[in-house]
Amino acid sequence: MYNAFMINTRGDPLGTVRNLILSIWQDADLHALLVPTNGEPDSPYRTSLLESSDQLNQINPFNPIMRTNAARMVPGLLQSYPNSRIGVLFRPCEMRALRAMGKRDGLKLDNLTTISFDCLGTYPTNEFKWRAERKGSSEALTQETLQFARQGGIMAYRYRGACQLCGEPHASEADVNIGVLGLPVRQFILLSTRDKTINDKLHLEKWSPKHADSNVLNQRVQVIARLAERRNSTRERVIQGIADVLPTDIESLIVHLADCGKCQACLDACPLCMIDFPQRDEYFRYQINDIKEWLGSCSGCGMCEQACPQHHPLTAIFSHIHKELTDDFKYSILNSPAGPLLIQ
Ligand code: SF4
Ligand code: SF4
Ligand code: SF4
Repeated sequence: MYNAFMINTRGDPLGTVRNLILSIWQDADLHALLVPTNGEPDSPYRTSLLESSDQLNQINPFNPIMRTNAARMVPGLLQSYPNSRIGVLFRPCEMRALRAMGKRDGLKLDNLTTISFDCLGTYPTNEFKWRAERKGSSEALTQETLQFARQGGIMAYRYRGACQLCGEPHASEADVNIGVLGLPVRQFILLSTRDKTINDKLHLEKWSPKHADSNVLNQRVQVIARLAERRNSTRERVIQGIADVLPTDIESLIVHLADCGKCQACLDACPLCMIDFPQRDEYFRYQINDIKEWLGSCSGCGMCEQACPQHHPLTAIFSHIHKELTDDFKYSILNSPAGPLLIQ
């Protein structure tokens, strides 16, 4: 991260983020922005393409629900707008998927301005619906969620399986990154850019001349580190619990997926497979190198698990294999040169 500015929120972190996005829209001269919105009451939370900055009051990045990995929408978007600058506002797992898609198939991301934000976790759809109804609206539920940013989120045991295992919920990979984890967000949030060029172009210092001091940065780092430790050990507990009945390595996964027959719902739901779908032989066995390529880039978003008709804990299995690949073979293309916390 280049610089980290403390942005005063004056009691309204969501409003501050909306204003920030408007400012980025104008300074980056965006034609359109792919962004999470509140959606309609019967269809809460959508990823929508906004073509006018007048619609920015609909955006809600912290709404605690995720129904699709919006990185899936980027290839089509780039085709539809080949000569325009497009913005995307993505959760960290969407950013990871986007970056992996870019690296795997040479997807050109030059026309994108990427914005990401610390993720406070998401609920399964049914859990989200009843909580939003009880609070009166998804916006009210979002406000409740933001109140717990300082502790690292709310109701972790109620989260989607993927979020309970997500060791990297912090924004770090985008052109512009918005930090809320570990912070008193009614007072301030953090804003940083990937490098000086973006910082100069977007003039982000106009929001605040105040750089975050080491106490503030450490506060965020410590909360993120605690989340990562807890979630990584949860994943290993899940893996130990299922090891007798479900695959936990690539070879047994290939056998398992072959036993699933024609079902490939987990691969169909995965943004990475849109770019490069693993090949299989006449016995439904996937090629080992294809599985390595696929899961070596796994972003941990959990869309595969949401799609599985057998309700297998696929995020735990796939992220465990991802970790084995990246630990053992340095296979990942996602490792950042700046390290896992990416704050300087
Ligand atoms: S997997 Fe991580 S980044 Fe994605 S929604 Fe869950 S907590 Fe957020
Ligand atoms: S394998 Fe599953 S968790 Fe990994 S990127 Fe694909 S959909 Fe997301
Ligand atoms: S979605 Fe579930 S049942 Fe279908 S192939 Fe994947 S693991 Fe098997």
